Amino acid sequence: MIPDAPEPKLSSLYQEVILEHNRKPRNYKEIADAKNYAHGVNPLCGDDYHLYLVLDDQGVVQDVGFTGSGCAISKSSASIMTTMVKGKKVEECQTLLKSFLEMMTQDEVSAESKENIGRLSMFGGVKEFPIRVKCATLIWHALADALKG
Ligand code: ZN
Repeated sequence: MIPDAPEPKLSSLYQEVILEHNRKPRNYKEIADAKNYAHGVNPLCGDDYHLYLVLDDQGVVQDVGFTGSGCAISKSSASIMTTMVKGKKVEECQTLLKSFLEMMTQDEVSAESKENIGRLSMFGGVKEFPIRVKCATLIWHALADALKG
């Protein structure tokens, strides 16, 4: 441990958005009769979430909710994710999660993916803390599982 090493910080604007979603997570609810469900756990940090999806006959996300607990990054990522997938088709959700995981795990991100993820790009700063990448991506892996039904 180097006491004087500067700690990389997420830009203050992004940090504010993340903290705001952490304080007031959107779609924070259990959907008891949801047929599409997944449980995601990140033992490294203690993040533990349940994700519920309700799809209609056309494969459109009619409702989405999550419950559980974890760090600010995991909870805000989950909160923002739910606001982005509501009303989207399964294929659109898959494109979004693929683009997000590409941004979080690859050095080079395609222009198409950058466009797809939009405001999720704020989580790019998390890459400076490799151990926290799992926090940001946890709910997206759960989304991949839940979409499979
Ligand atoms: Zn975490």
